[in-house]
Amino acid sequence: MSERKTAIVTGAGRGIGAAVAARLASDGLAVAVLDLTEESSADTVAAITEAGGTALAVGADVSDEESVTAAIAKVTSDLGAPTVLVNNAGILRDNLLFKMSVGDWDAVMGVHLRGAFLMARGVQEHMVAAKWGRIVNLSSTSALGNRGQSNYSAAKAGMQGFTKTLAIELGKFGVTANAIAPGFIQTDMTKATAERVGMDWEEFVKANAEAIPVKRGGVPEDIAHAASFFASEGAGFVSGQVLYVAGGPRD
Ligand code: NAP
Repeated sequence: MSERKTAIVTGAGRGIGAAVAARLASDGLAVAVLDLTEESSADTVAAITEAGGTALAVGADVSDEESVTAAIAKVTSDLGAPTVLVNNAGILRDNLLFKMSVGDWDAVMGVHLRGAFLMARGVQEHMVAAKWGRIVNLSSTSALGNRGQSNYSAAKAGMQGFTKTLAIELGKFGVTANAIAPGFIQTDMTKATAERVGMDWEEFVKANAEAIPVKRGGVPEDIAHAASFFASEGAGFVSGQVLYVAGGPRD
């Protein structure tokens, strides 16, 4: 019998999630590539499969309870009980506080916090049953405060508290929970930010890189490397931590 573990990576159709899914697959895990629709997971699944890995496309909205329940059931029956979870799905609805709508506040809380809660609550029973599990939550340097992101920074700070509490509650079942707080990573999300502030993408990357101690923008693989560590067997004594992966202390 194969000892292969099953991972779920949310928001894995593109960007950081796609890189994390590919990395976990190359580490030998079977990976459920969860995104809003199965179609949006197709490219990630194809890349993993072509590289010789095992992946399953799962369409689900992480902020919707029924959708999450159905997704976890599908992963369990088609791929095996999930014991690794990477809560990566995310959205931006940036605006200054005085212009921020309740809808934009709720949407961000819904995907990041409600989504991470629903996913973690759903998979913990499989982790507890296996007496082993790894939960990795995506926070952000924005958790420390960022203009125009009162909703997002609150959600990303919330992810850190959520992570630490999961670490405390689930540790005795062999389950660790850690957070990764990326700085500036070159993805569609930051491309959208460049557009919003009216900057050319190349200029935007250059300006961001200038402020980063290692003098470059991050790439999704930088985050995938950290996720691979937290998901690994050997990281079992590391829990409740927040790792800033930002080319410096916080940028
Ligand atoms: P991205 O390119 O915008 O990708 C986000 C993914 O999440 C997309 O595939 C999106 O699906 C999916 N998604 C959105 N809402 C969802 C929902 N309700 N249910 C399921 N999937 C959903 O973003 P990214 O830059 O890779 O960011 C990934 C994570 O890292 C996010 O949590 C983000 O906040 C965090 N982060 C990013 C940076 C950065 O600089 N890029 C920095 C710090 C933290 P669709 O494609 O279908 O919309």
